[in-house]
Amino acid sequence: MPDFSGFGEFRMTKQRRVVYDVLVDEPRDHPTASEVFLRAKNRMPGISLATVYNCLETLTHAGLVKQVNLDRDASRYCPNLKPHAHFFCSECEQVFDITPRPSADPCAVWELPEGTRIDHLDVTLKGKCPACARAGHP
Ligand SMILES: [Zn+2]
Ligand SMILES: [Zn+2]
Repeated sequence: MPDFSGFGEFRMTKQRRVVYDVLVDEPRDHPTASEVFLRAKNRMPGISLATVYNCLETLTHAGLVKQVNLDRDASRYCPNLKPHAHFFCSECEQVFDITPRPSADPCAVWELPEGTRIDHLDVTLKGKCPACARAGHP
């Protein structure tokens, strides 16, 4: 359990806790709000979809969870706070966390104006995951 004292006004209520646990526990498959809701309901039968939405918003604002947006799909949620990008498989529609190589400097990859400073990385790559690519989808 991370230490939440650095997150200002944030208070970990029972509902937020359940929603957060759903995201942190395996499988960390970047569920949508409705998927989070279904899993949260197993742990807290009384929880409502609106509450789950609220909790997700609060957790995102507190910086404990990242919102992942892919085109016009429903937002998905990711509890991985280490710098990472997302790989979206167009075949099985799974979202995978991908991390930069330790030596990689994002400034070296992108054509950025001299003096640019990167504070935040939010990159989505799309393609086919190894399993789907192997299965020989065109
Ligand atoms: Zn992620
Ligand atoms: Zn796949």
